[in-house]
Amino acid sequence: MQCHKCNQDAVIELQHGALCKNHFITYFEEKVFKTINKFQLIQRSDKICVATSGGKDSLTVLYLVKKYCKRHHIPTDGIFALAVDEGIKDYREQTLTDLQQFCDDHDVPLHVVSNKEEFGATLDKAYPIINKGTKKKPCNVCGVWRRYSLNKYARKFGATKVVTGHNLDDEAQVILMNIFKANTKLAGRIGPISGVKEHDYFVQRVKPLYMCSDKEVRLYTLLKGFTVQFTECPYSVEGYRHEIQDMLNKFEHKYKGTKHAIITSFLDLLPLLKERDLQQNESVKACTQCGEAANKDVCNACTMRGML
Ligand code: SF4
Ligand SMILES: [Zn+2]
Ligand SMILES: [Zn+2]
Repeated sequence: MQCHKCNQDAVIELQHGALCKNHFITYFEEKVFKTINKFQLIQRSDKICVATSGGKDSLTVLYLVKKYCKRHHIPTDGIFALAVDEGIKDYREQTLTDLQQFCDDHDVPLHVVSNKEEFGATLDKAYPIINKGTKKKPCNVCGVWRRYSLNKYARKFGATKVVTGHNLDDEAQVILMNIFKANTKLAGRIGPISGVKEHDYFVQRVKPLYMCSDKEVRLYTLLKGFTVQFTECPYSVEGYRHEIQDMLNKFEHKYKGTKHAIITSFLDLLPLLKERDLQQNESVKACTQCGEAANKDVCNACTMRGML
């Protein structure tokens, strides 16, 4: 296979043709920068927090957001990385070591907050207890606590945007999960920018890798030589999402462009969904235990902490 632009050996075949290493890197970076521009994910005045885990998506997004800011003469000294140490044995330790090294190499300050300090227990310890009463899966507990900590500490450190490494595959999975579970109420809150409007309690989350497939991000990190573990979290196979991921991969293999089509259809509907959510105007109040955002008296994170 040869690159359709320069006849060098190709590293990937995309729908519009094959690309060599250099042309793929340029194509990928331009796609991310175009996404940032198109959806206005970053403003000149933003103080940016990058939600990181040390995995391929978060390292890529951290690297490219810094590159984007430099290219547009946006100050980069305020950019910082924030990671949550969930307390997942034989998994998170290594990715956090890689992350620390990456942040040192790229001159980005890193803050790590841990479930153990924030909620009094690691995910490994907490989830079996919470599961007994609620049947919640590890990913449910992990997701609620991670979103809580990211929002709380991003705000505490003065961020106006949280950049996340969610890619096209992640988003296509969530869109389908919401449909399969009839969670259409949540649909307007996803998309390249989280939430339906700016809110004092929430720092907006933005997703520059929104149009990049998992395969493309993986190849980019390999070609750039980032030190990254491609191991999966031991709990990932327990989630509903894992089955959706398998199904989508099979469909994509058989019918190329399926994932992209899900995203395109969703983006078409998103303005309507956001409009509907704005009209419903669901009230957000302060959690009576921790003061963070809640839609009932006690927020979900505190409810789970209370079960320990
Ligand atoms: S796979 Fe589930 S438990 Fe593991 S880090 Fe992701 S959300 Fe957390
Ligand atoms: Zn080429
Ligand atoms: Zn709370």
